[in-house]
Amino acid sequence: MTDTAQTTVRSVVTEIPGPKSKQMLERKAEAVSTAIPSNLPVFIESANGATFTDVDGNTFIDLGCGIGVTTIGHTNEAVVAAVREQVGRLTHSLVGQTPYEPYVRAAELLNELTPGDHKKKTIFVNSGAEAVENGVKFARKYTGRRGVAVLDHGYHGRTALTGTMNFKIAPYANGQGPTVSDVFHAPNSYPLHDGLDGAAAAKRTQWYLEKHVGVEDLACLVVEPIQGEGGFIVPADGYLPALQEWCTKNGVVMIADEIQSGVSRTGATYASELLGWTPDVVLTAKGIAGGMPLAAVTGRAEILDAMHLNGVGGTFGGNPVSCAAAIAVLEQVKSLDLDSEAKRIEEALVRRLREMQDKYSVIAEVRGRGAMIGVELIDADGEPVAAGPFAAEAGRNGVMALTAGADGNVLRFLPSLIITNEQLEEGMDVIDAAFATVLNS
Ligand SMILES: *Cc1c(COP(=O)(O)O)cnc(C)c1O
Repeated sequence: MTDTAQTTVRSVVTEIPGPKSKQMLERKAEAVSTAIPSNLPVFIESANGATFTDVDGNTFIDLGCGIGVTTIGHTNEAVVAAVREQVGRLTHSLVGQTPYEPYVRAAELLNELTPGDHKKKTIFVNSGAEAVENGVKFARKYTGRRGVAVLDHGYHGRTALTGTMNFKIAPYANGQGPTVSDVFHAPNSYPLHDGLDGAAAAKRTQWYLEKHVGVEDLACLVVEPIQGEGGFIVPADGYLPALQEWCTKNGVVMIADEIQSGVSRTGATYASELLGWTPDVVLTAKGIAGGMPLAAVTGRAEILDAMHLNGVGGTFGGNPVSCAAAIAVLEQVKSLDLDSEAKRIEEALVRRLREMQDKYSVIAEVRGRGAMIGVELIDADGEPVAAGPFAAEAGRNGVMALTAGADGNVLRFLPSLIITNEQLEEGMDVIDAAFATVLNS
C-alpha cells in the first residue's frame, strides 16, 4: 500500500452532473452514438487509487473500477512506470512477425498463476470477447466438434458469437441481424432461486446438454465461476467440479470465463480455485493490466498446441505496452498479497450489507466473494426491484456503484483491492443512506 494519494477523500462540490460535465454531455450527445450510455453522468478527469475526480472537481469513491478493471487501483505506481518505460522503447511489432520478451513474460506469469499444475500455454488478444472467441476456437479445433454450451445468466461479450452466448440477447444482440448457430444455453446453479445443491444443479445442466446438443457434438462448456453481469451468482458447492468431471468424461473442454472474476478479484487469484475447480482453459481480461487493453487465453498445452500455425492471432493482440502493464500487475499479485486484500474487502462489504439487509427488506440476498459482492433486490411480492435508482443516488453523493442481474435488480460492488478500510466504510455509509432515501421517496 504505497500509493499516498489513496487517502484522497470523497468530495462533492457541485450538483451531479456539474456544469462542465453537463456541457460535455451535450457534446457527447452530438458527437457520439446514442447507443453508448453515461450511467454515472460525469466526465472523469483523473483517477488515483480507489478514487476518481471529475471535470467539476468532484471526487468519487470508486466501487466499480470500470467494471472490475482497475483492480490494482487507478494509476498504480508500478503499472504507470512499466507503461512509461515500454512506450518509449517499443509500442508495436506484431508478435507473429517479430516476437518481444514482454509477451512471453506475461504468458509465463499467467501459466503460473492460473489454476492447476499441468503444463499450460497462453495467447494474448485485445478484449474479453476476443478471448472467449479464441477459447472456443481452440476447443473446437482440439475436439473436432461444433457445439458451444453456456449457462443461463452468463455474459461473454458483444461480438456475434459472444453476443449469442449471452443469456440476455436483449440488449446485447437483438435487432442486429442473425445470431450464431451451434450455441446451446443450459440452466445454471442459482441457489437463491432454484434451491438446488451443487450435485442436483449439475445433473440438471448435464441433462439439458445431453438432450439439446448430444455430447458427441459438444466442443466446450463456457462458464463464469461467479457470474458477473448476471448478478454475482455464486453456484452451489460442488456444481463446477461436477460439471468438470462430466466434461472430462465426455471429451468436452471446460472453459472458465474469469474475465471479471480473475486476477485476485475474489480472494483467490482465480475464482475457479475458490470453488474447487481446475478448468481446462482459463480466460483473463478485465483486471489483467491495470486498465490497459489486454486479454488472454491460457489452457492445457495440448489444447492450445492443437491449433494449426496462424489459426489464431491478430494485429494488436498482446501489445507490448499492455504486456508490460500486465507484468507489473501480475508480479504484484503475490508481493501485495492481493488475495488477502480481497478477503479483507469481503469481510467489510458483507458485514455492512448484512446490516442493511436487516433494515431494508428489499435486500433479498448478500452474495459474492472477495471484492466481488452484490445484493439482489426483490419486493414483498417477489418482483425484482431495479437497482439503478440506488446506484444513481449513491452517484449523486460521490460513490460509484454498478448494477447487474437479468432484471437489473442487483447492486454490485467491484472496488479496487487497494481501497482503504476508511474509504470502504464511507462508501457503505453512502450506500446505506441511498437505500434510506430511495425507499422513502
Ligand atoms: C466483460 C466480460 C466479457 C467481455 O469482455 P470485453 O473486454 O468487454 O469484450 C466477457 N466475459 C465476462 C465474464 C465479462 O465480465
